Amino acid sequence: MGQALTFTIIFLALCAGSTEAGEVSVDPGDNGADVIEDTTEDTDSRSSEVAVAVEDLVDPAPSLAELPAIPLADAVTAAGGAASTVTILGTDVEPGTAHRLSWSATELFEGVPVSTPVLVVNGALPGPTLCLTAAVHGDELNGIEMVRRVMHDLDPADLSGAVIGVPIVNVQGFRRGSRYLPDRRDLNRYFPGNPNGSAAARIADSFFTTIVSHCDALVDLHTGSFERANLPQIRADLRNPDVMTLTQGFGSMVILHSAPAVGTLRHAATRAGIPAVTLEAGGPSQLELTEVKLGVKGIETLVNTLGMVKKRRLWGEPEPIYYRSSWVRADNGGILLADVSLGSTVRKGDLLGTITDPMNNARTELRSPYSGRIIGMARNQVVMPGFAAFHIGIQTDEAPVDEIPDPSLSHDKEAGGDYVDGMSE
Ligand SMILES: [Zn+2]
Repeated sequence: MGQALTFTIIFLALCAGSTEAGEVSVDPGDNGADVIEDTTEDTDSRSSEVAVAVEDLVDPAPSLAELPAIPLADAVTAAGGAASTVTILGTDVEPGTAHRLSWSATELFEGVPVSTPVLVVNGALPGPTLCLTAAVHGDELNGIEMVRRVMHDLDPADLSGAVIGVPIVNVQGFRRGSRYLPDRRDLNRYFPGNPNGSAAARIADSFFTTIVSHCDALVDLHTGSFERANLPQIRADLRNPDVMTLTQGFGSMVILHSAPAVGTLRHAATRAGIPAVTLEAGGPSQLELTEVKLGVKGIETLVNTLGMVKKRRLWGEPEPIYYRSSWVRADNGGILLADVSLGSTVRKGDLLGTITDPMNNARTELRSPYSGRIIGMARNQVVMPGFAAFHIGIQTDEAPVDEIPDPSLSHDKEAGGDYVDGMSE
């Protein structure tokens, strides 16, 4: 690890230190979001504890001005001396070697440990450690294939630093083809976890302390949820300079500003001083080759931009950055048929799709309230009133300001609703 980056991480840890300490006794993941989202019977009395947890987390990050802006790429250039051994999961991974290890989050629901592969490629040359995680939601398959392709293309002899790839984080969900853990909790609302908390919080804690603590930067791979697909895009908190640097490394991918909700892996990692972004591509329960290839290209470009490999060509042609986005919801129930496709440019008033009531044949039109681009949309399906159907990226000249409220703290706000509805990672 480079000295400059080490410094960055220590500095961020110190900045966050005062609130981290107070957080240990509560379960930050138990913020109630999952209860609203996907459980009907889980109405236990967590409310007072939840209030404390949320208050402790209101001040998640130091302000923009306090953050040191040391680009990750500089960390590679600054890294001197010999490459170091990565000791992870009880194994010494020597420089210039690749290992396939396995992680299991203690005993799970059947009382039997279930393990999932952890691929480690430790380069012969010094550099940072980049982590790739996929299938935190068990039904999101595109990222699994992206991690496989990227990891098997890496040559430890030519690599500066290390890449750790975990193709299937939520192996329990994956085995059942489900987004959730077996208790219907969303693992991505429980990071960094709690060793004494709920099952989800314990799995999150094990993953975070065992794997994520080794990372200098993290890319968490996702897809749209519930029969929705996303244009391949990077979601990132552009108020954080290190995160901003990371987003610029992917080459020609759409970038969407999005403040992460408390409990997401992206939020927890960034807060621990590990700049993290989400790469979204396609929809759940399918393997989409075009999206997989785009994602792989973006990640390989990042590995190159960070200076970890030298031989690959950079993927240029910058795409726009969307500082704002909004979901257009169905006001009527019925059969939704889209008139636009992913990546379409739309103007205010354009027809996005129609909803037809199969009983009385009444047809309503969904029109765009904004000019922008379709960055996510529902597959054609039967919808209920309120269903989020089209996600529109809106280009503005204004960069996001520091004081954007944390979306996880309000279920009423539009952005917060994305997390409650499972429309964001
Ligand atoms: Zn996801």
